[in-house]
Amino acid sequence: MVLPHNIYVHVPFCVSKCNYCAFFSRACVAPDWNTYENNIIAEITKWGQTLGHPDVPTIFFGGGTPSLMPVASFRKIIQAIADNFHIVQNCEITLESNPGTLDRNKLDAFCDSGVNRLSVGVQALDDRRLKFLGRRHTVRDALQLLDAAQHKNIRLSADFIYGLPGDTPDDIVQLCDGINSCGLGHCSMYELTIEENTPFATMNLDMPSNDDMAAMYTIIGTRLNLPRYEVSNYAVCGAECKHNMNVWDGAPYIGIGPGAAGRIFMDDTWYEQMGNDELFRPMSDTARATERIITGMRQVRGMMLDKDNKKIINMDFVDAHPELVTKTHDGRIAATLRGMLVLDDVILNMVGDTGDAK
Ligand code: SF4
Repeated sequence: MVLPHNIYVHVPFCVSKCNYCAFFSRACVAPDWNTYENNIIAEITKWGQTLGHPDVPTIFFGGGTPSLMPVASFRKIIQAIADNFHIVQNCEITLESNPGTLDRNKLDAFCDSGVNRLSVGVQALDDRRLKFLGRRHTVRDALQLLDAAQHKNIRLSADFIYGLPGDTPDDIVQLCDGINSCGLGHCSMYELTIEENTPFATMNLDMPSNDDMAAMYTIIGTRLNLPRYEVSNYAVCGAECKHNMNVWDGAPYIGIGPGAAGRIFMDDTWYEQMGNDELFRPMSDTARATERIITGMRQVRGMMLDKDNKKIINMDFVDAHPELVTKTHDGRIAATLRGMLVLDDVILNMVGDTGDAK
């Protein structure tokens, strides 16, 4: 049986590197788009043929900064997907973007070429914080892009970072109020984490305490006018990111481009995949079930209990801790708000010792 496969296309170029960024991307003034486009199309062709031209319910261009890409390259990549897969009707096609790299004309051209969901890296609503984060744009640039996108017939999301050094719960109240006034249907709120090999890692920053971070997280859940549907994601009902929900629910997806991770289902076997031949190896049932629990439990609606994950979930832990994990009426188990605050520990206890997790 050929399952539908979602497609993630990685665009690894940025105008410059942000101070916190550990993503696979490099600052590049003039990327070689021809080479990039040819490589991506070759990978798409290979996977379409290998998998027997499956349905594609979602396509996600992530980065890096995909909005830097020439629209002509984007069109050719979408055409290659259409030639080698079956793009379903109402396929969600997301483009990640950064303010300052996408004007109204280019946005129009992307939308005319198939983009129906735009994700904007706003990150902060004051210029001092943007500068600290190493962002190249201003709040004004970001609001202009949000405004341009709101005049298009597309779905819109924005990313924000909270928990900067010196941030207090009052700052988060202000941030949430600012986001509410943007009139978004979807946003992502990421806690600032200090990653190795980033400029921030060398700065000895005085980060908010765990208790302050937890207080900020709780404020976001009550102050934003968008309900939380995943640890870091908030949306009005129906505006959730379908691509991510499919991935969190355990659907197959193909990672196209350098460093892009995928999970391929072929010949009744799950494969861990990355980019073009960077990694391709079968996964054990236990390893696959474990990661489905990890991603599924990040969702507020939790994950379906099925025969595969039931085999490895410690139901005694679940039954003993209703304050952390609840069973829903539709056959799922989900973390409570308290459980979400300590999700890593909850998952560790649910999964326990998985033995051969490779
Ligand atoms: S724009 Fe995004 S991917 Fe690029 S350096 Fe900044 S955080 Fe990283």
